[in-house]
Amino acid sequence: MAICHEVRPARAWMGRLPHGSDLLEALTGLCREKDVTLGRIEALGAVSRAKIGYYDQTERTYGFHEIAEPLEILTLVGNVSLKDGEVMVHAHVTLAHEDGRAVGGHLAAGTEVFACEYMIEAFDGAPLLRSNDEETGLPLWSD
Ligand code: ZN
Repeated sequence: MAICHEVRPARAWMGRLPHGSDLLEALTGLCREKDVTLGRIEALGAVSRAKIGYYDQTERTYGFHEIAEPLEILTLVGNVSLKDGEVMVHAHVTLAHEDGRAVGGHLAAGTEVFACEYMIEAFDGAPLLRSNDEETGLPLWSD
């Protein structure tokens, strides 16, 4: 059965992250600061290094790629919800190398901002709570 909550746009912010900040931690910090517990995020810009994950569905573990070179952020899409009572940003990124080749995955801490313009939109609605899902092994929305 699908989980489907009606949400209503409440507030939104646009801005720029500090050069040298950690992309995931900076976005999570902004959500905590603005008390966003339900929302969505988008961003673009560039990073000086990246750490992105891929979930191995058989092993049920994340593997991570670290890319120690400058990359463009073509897209970052994410959502904001609660896990164990804490704000959690779940974001995926598509990044491009100098020659335009793209790589992407689950955004992990360890991705360093070169320049990043973001938008965070907060919603009103019943909270979405993450808990461990037995079918996938992932912390998915359960309610
Ligand atoms: Zn993910």
